[in-house]
Amino acid sequence: MARYDISLMTGDGIGPELCASARKILEAINDNSSTKFSITEVEAGDAALAKHGKALPAASIEMIRNSQACLKGPVGESAADVIIVLRRMFDLYANVRPAKSYPNIKALSDKVDLVTVRENTEDLYVGLEFNIDPNTVVGLRLTTERASRRIAEYAFKTAMSRDSKRKVVAVHKANVMRKGDGLFAATCRDVAKKYPKIHYSELYVDAASMNLIRNPEDFDVIVTTNLFGDILSDEAAQVVGGLGMGPAANIGESFALFEPVHGAAFDIAGKNTANPSSILLSSKMMLDWLADKHKDDQISREGQKVEDAIIRLLGRNQKTKDIGGSLTTAEFTDLVAREMF
Ligand code: ATP
Repeated sequence: MARYDISLMTGDGIGPELCASARKILEAINDNSSTKFSITEVEAGDAALAKHGKALPAASIEMIRNSQACLKGPVGESAADVIIVLRRMFDLYANVRPAKSYPNIKALSDKVDLVTVRENTEDLYVGLEFNIDPNTVVGLRLTTERASRRIAEYAFKTAMSRDSKRKVVAVHKANVMRKGDGLFAATCRDVAKKYPKIHYSELYVDAASMNLIRNPEDFDVIVTTNLFGDILSDEAAQVVGGLGMGPAANIGESFALFEPVHGAAFDIAGKNTANPSSILLSSKMMLDWLADKHKDDQISREGQKVEDAIIRLLGRNQKTKDIGGSLTTAEFTDLVAREMF
């Protein structure tokens, strides 16, 4: 019997509703299989800041450190003080964001199956900004060969592990940022030589954002820098029908954190209307990561059941409001649990 310690960060806005949904599905696996989870709830975000004076209290960091993986709900205004800190603290260098067509969801194409592999530790996104004077700000855009190589390797390994098109496209703007993105592109090109079975190409970020709308089904694995990846992965989520279906993983050498692509969505918080698929598909990514790390085929099968259940429900047009249905968060969650076992 395999047992896993999971830290569950409930977050802000729709975070608590989504985390209740994820907990329900993990508990369903607990009750119906030999895989067991011990779930510890962790406080972080705006609510934690108001209560403890810190968006990421030391006790929460300790609980995350003591777990084998973290499942995180979205965080509100204090997101940068939570997720960026955790990414750096646990060296979660790869931000992996799949975007896939699912049945009966209004999308630009029904044949999309791509994944954005975004460098997670460098670039403008880490927020190294300085005032020269009150009216002038300088932002540092760091690019290293080490981080570029690490993310390129991750992207090519991802392409090898997918039974789809076996393509990697590096997205950058090396015609303008000749040094920083030049280094990123040259490193991706060098890593590509080790993977002759993968078709490698490059696109400037403006062309990539256009092609994502024009021919989204052509993409397989996109490897890119931090800020471009943030933007392109939101675009890719929209291409396949919206943020409510978008999962993400932050992967390091020995630890990983899983979270929806979207933010706290305060406009729909507390209404029981949010689409929990984003966090349920993030949970599936967590189960796949644990399966790989612990050589546990059983937990990988449980993860597949989560996605298969969602696909079956969507196939029968059973869905939440954001994608044209009328089910509440809780109703959709109950149906996923029932479909799984
Ligand atoms: P952030 O800047 O933190 O990413 P944001 O202001 O861009 O946040 P999000 O919270 O990511 O906004 O979401 C944008 C909109 O998409 C929300 O206002 C909400 O209406 C919708 N949305 C996001 N996630 C979901 C979901 N899981 N279910 C339904 N609708 C969602």
